[in-house]
Amino acid sequence: MNTRIDPAALEAAEAAPPSHDASDPTLLARMIEAGILVETGEDGIYGRSAAFEDVLERLSVAVTLLGADQNAEVLRFPPALRRRDFEDSEYLKSFPDLAGTIHAFQGNDADHRRLLAALDATIAAGDGERSDEWMDQQKPTRLVFTPAACYPIYPVIARRGALPEGGATFDVFSYCFRHEPSVDPSRMQMFRMREFVRLGSPGDVMTFREKWIERGSAFVKMLGLPFDIDLANDPFFGRGGKIVANSQREQQLKFELVIPVATPGRPTACLSFNYHMDHFGTLWKIDCANGDVAHSACVAFGMERTTLALFRHHGLDVRAWPDGVRALLWGDTQAAIDAALR
Ligand code: ATP
Ligand code: ZN
Repeated sequence: MNTRIDPAALEAAEAAPPSHDASDPTLLARMIEAGILVETGEDGIYGRSAAFEDVLERLSVAVTLLGADQNAEVLRFPPALRRRDFEDSEYLKSFPDLAGTIHAFQGNDADHRRLLAALDATIAAGDGERSDEWMDQQKPTRLVFTPAACYPIYPVIARRGALPEGGATFDVFSYCFRHEPSVDPSRMQMFRMREFVRLGSPGDVMTFREKWIERGSAFVKMLGLPFDIDLANDPFFGRGGKIVANSQREQQLKFELVIPVATPGRPTACLSFNYHMDHFGTLWKIDCANGDVAHSACVAFGMERTTLALFRHHGLDVRAWPDGVRALLWGDTQAAIDAALR
C-alpha cells in the first residue's frame, strides 16, 4: 500500500501546490497525516474522522435540500442485496470484476476443526504471504454487497405494480462495494452514493436528467470547485465490454461531472447522470400507468469523492474554507440552496 508519507514529497507539495493540473497525488498521504482519513493497511478501505464525516453529512443535507422539490420517496437499505435479485440484475454480465459476494461459515463441528487448523497455518505465516485455505470453509450466503445505491429499489418497485400517473422519484443512499483496490483515494472499495432515481416515460426521465445536470453543476459551483461535464461510459468488462461502452457513448447515456482530485492528469467523476432507457424497466417488469415499459434515469453523488474534492481545493482546515462554502455547509444551507436554484 503506497500511502506512506514521503516527507520530502509532502514538503514539496506544501511549498508548491501542483499547478500543471489541479489534481494532487499527495492528497491521501496528507489527509492521513492530518488524521482526516485513517489507514487500515488495505487500499481503498479507510477510516473516516469527525472532520471528514462532518463535511460528508453536511453535503448530504445540502443534497436533500437541492432535491426538496422532487417529491422523492426516501428509501434506505443496508448495503447488501438479496443474491437472487443480484442474479436477475445482469450486473455480472457487465461488471463481474467489481462485484463482491458475501460468504460465511455454515459447517458442523468437524468443519469448524478444519477451519481452525487452516486458520492456524494462515496466521503462522505472520507478515509473510498468507494462504487463504481457511476460506475453503466459507460458503456463499444469500447476500451480495450493493454495487450502486439504486440497485435494491427496482425489484421493490416492481412488486408494487404499475407506477403512478406521472411516474415516480426516489431518494436513495447506501454504502456501496466495488472490488477496485487502488492507491487513488477517490477510488475506494467501500464508499457512499446518494442518488435521485426517476422512473416514468422517456420524456419524463430525460427532462429529469437535464435538470440534474444543471442542478449538479450549480451545486458544485457553489462548493467553489472547478469542474467539467463530460460524456462518459461505464467500465464494462472484457472485449465485448468495449463495444457496449462505445454504444453507451454514442447514445449519450452517461454524463459525469468531473473535478480534479488526486489522479495526476485526469479529473475524477464526482457526480454521474445516467439514462438507462428501458433497461431496468424491462428487466424488472416495471410499467408506467398507461402500460408502457418504464424508462429510468438517476443522478448519483459520490459522497466521498465530493468530500475529497473539497479538501483538495480548499485545504485540510475546514475553518479556512472560502466564506461561500462555509455559508453553504455550516450556515443557512436552505438560503444558499434557494439562491442557487433561482
Ligand atoms: P468511475 O468511472 O470513476 O469508475 P463510475 O462511472 O463507475 O466511476 P458510477 O457507477 O456512475 O461511477 O457511480 C456513481 C458515483 O459513485 C460516481 O459518480 C462516483 O462519484 C462514485 N464512485 C464510483 N466508484 C467509486 C469508487 N470506487 N470510490 C468512490 N466513489 C466512487
Ligand atoms: Zn443509479
